[in-house]
Amino acid sequence: MNNNIYKQIIRDYENLRNKNLIEQKNRYLEVEEKVKGFSELENEIKQKVIETALLQIKNPDKNTVKKLTSELERLEKDKEELLIKAGYKKDYLDMRYSCKICKDQGFIDQKRCKCFNKRLTLKLFDQSGISHVLERENFKSFNYEAFSDQIDAKEGMSPRQNIRDIMKVVELFIKTFDKKNDMNLLFYGKPGLGKTFISNCIAKYLMEKNKQVIYMTAFSMVKHMEDVKFSKNVSEDAKYKYDLLYGCDLLIVDDLGVELSTSFTNSEIFNLINSRLLRGKKNLISTNLDIKDLSNTYTDRVFSRVYQKFTALKFFGKDLRTIL
Ligand SMILES: [Zn+2]
Repeated sequence: MNNNIYKQIIRDYENLRNKNLIEQKNRYLEVEEKVKGFSELENEIKQKVIETALLQIKNPDKNTVKKLTSELERLEKDKEELLIKAGYKKDYLDMRYSCKICKDQGFIDQKRCKCFNKRLTLKLFDQSGISHVLERENFKSFNYEAFSDQIDAKEGMSPRQNIRDIMKVVELFIKTFDKKNDMNLLFYGKPGLGKTFISNCIAKYLMEKNKQVIYMTAFSMVKHMEDVKFSKNVSEDAKYKYDLLYGCDLLIVDDLGVELSTSFTNSEIFNLINSRLLRGKKNLISTNLDIKDLSNTYTDRVFSRVYQKFTALKFFGKDLRTIL
């Protein structure tokens, strides 16, 4: 593991916890100022807590402890009522966490929390660039009107109808994502028809569901695989990245067919896809090649695996980038 990235994430969590604390403190200050009698009640509770603790050291009889505990409970209840009366929610002063599972510790039982893995993926793959894109691109911002409703003679359908049909498949894909149903997607067609946009939407949707999504162009993926295989000093960071290509929940390979096709890249791509398919891991491949080019570019092994196990969706129509 790259220590810098790891340390950076730990630091991010520290900052996050500090931010939570400061915000909670500010809410306290606000309530103390606005709600009459609140600080007095607070002080009384503090005093009572100390009293109870001191008394417990002295080993008192059961009844005394019981009495003090119920007094404390009553005071806490008074405090809650005071808050509600002043128009606040009863959990207004509670700590607010970004991740409720680990309470922004990043770890549970010394194991990395899902939120930690998410941060790690974003940092390792430098996907912070895509997170900006993801803020803008989501299913809600998808515009069907951008696609022509004129029937394409060759395809026997309008691009708009086609994209609606594609979106139905995409919807099924994300809805059944956790099922082992062998559903993988292959987007193909000329550039500028929304393949990357829809891939981004899928990535965003699943990342928000805490899925580990890796988004890579085929070119940089193959380059990374070569680096790990052929360089002498492979960093822990690079190895982890390599493993993640095999282990992530969804692998999105953009622009398949752009990388140089050699026997090495062919077998690496085959091994990666095959191993993921065997483990029931989901995949989305997008390519500007058509099915015939694809079969010419890759060996029969790669091609037939992709062709059998992927739902191929063809994008056609006018380049949206020239229309918009
Ligand atoms: Zn967490």
